[in-house]
Amino acid sequence: MYFIEPHIHIASRTTDDLQAMARAGCVAVGEPAFWMGYDRTSVGSFYDYFRQLTEWEPTRTARYGMRHFTWIGVNAKEAENVSFAREVMEKMPEFLDLPDVLGVGEIGLNKCTSNEVATLTALIDIALERGEMMLFHTPHLEHKLMGTRMILDLLRNDNRVNRDRVWIDHCEEHTIRQVRDEGYWAGLTLYPTTKVTPERAVDMVEIYGPERLLVTSSADWGPSDPLAIIAFMAAMRSRGHDESLIRRIVYDNPLEFMRQCERFKFGAPQ
Ligand SMILES: [Zn+2]
Repeated sequence: MYFIEPHIHIASRTTDDLQAMARAGCVAVGEPAFWMGYDRTSVGSFYDYFRQLTEWEPTRTARYGMRHFTWIGVNAKEAENVSFAREVMEKMPEFLDLPDVLGVGEIGLNKCTSNEVATLTALIDIALERGEMMLFHTPHLEHKLMGTRMILDLLRNDNRVNRDRVWIDHCEEHTIRQVRDEGYWAGLTLYPTTKVTPERAVDMVEIYGPERLLVTSSADWGPSDPLAIIAFMAAMRSRGHDESLIRRIVYDNPLEFMRQCERFKFGAPQ
């Protein structure tokens, strides 16, 4: 079965990973801009990273027959210095104009400070003024509930937001319901050590259904599994779910979400 990996940091993955993903049936990936594990010291460093995401990583991915789409933004871990973040934001429009860029992301909160909120508000403004889709990172577990609610509050107060075009990622059992009840897409992150296991993801499918649900590896430079979606598919099968439901979650849903971006052009294989 074909699948789409809508959240993975290809810049942190090896060619062995790309080959394994392609052989497993991956036909396209989405790569949000994020924290590289260290804080960047200049706007130029962000600029070069955005070039990497829009030039080099698509080339690398294409060698394995997979399409590469990306998101441009300032991540929550580097959002504390608001004036620096604003300088980076000035560089974003030229990248947001490129054909395979899906929108503004991943943006969000980490420690939920007022400076992070100031940066996030400015990023949301850029997205809404341009009519861009948005991908939100919600904080790690100790701040997840509070941070998710703060993001939903920010969006609820802005009548320019089209919730069909917004993805709130890294949901867990205590946040998924509110995200979906308010009309957003919800992402589940399958990490081997933290976040959601494949079995817990299947539980949430069974409890909440497959609508507006995205399942991803969010694989990066830490312990993570670029084939986590395959593990999720196996867990779904072992619970007796049929192939059409599995396909809906790992293929049809990401396509439905990404297709809302006017720049998204992809001859999706059937
Ligand atoms: Zn990520």
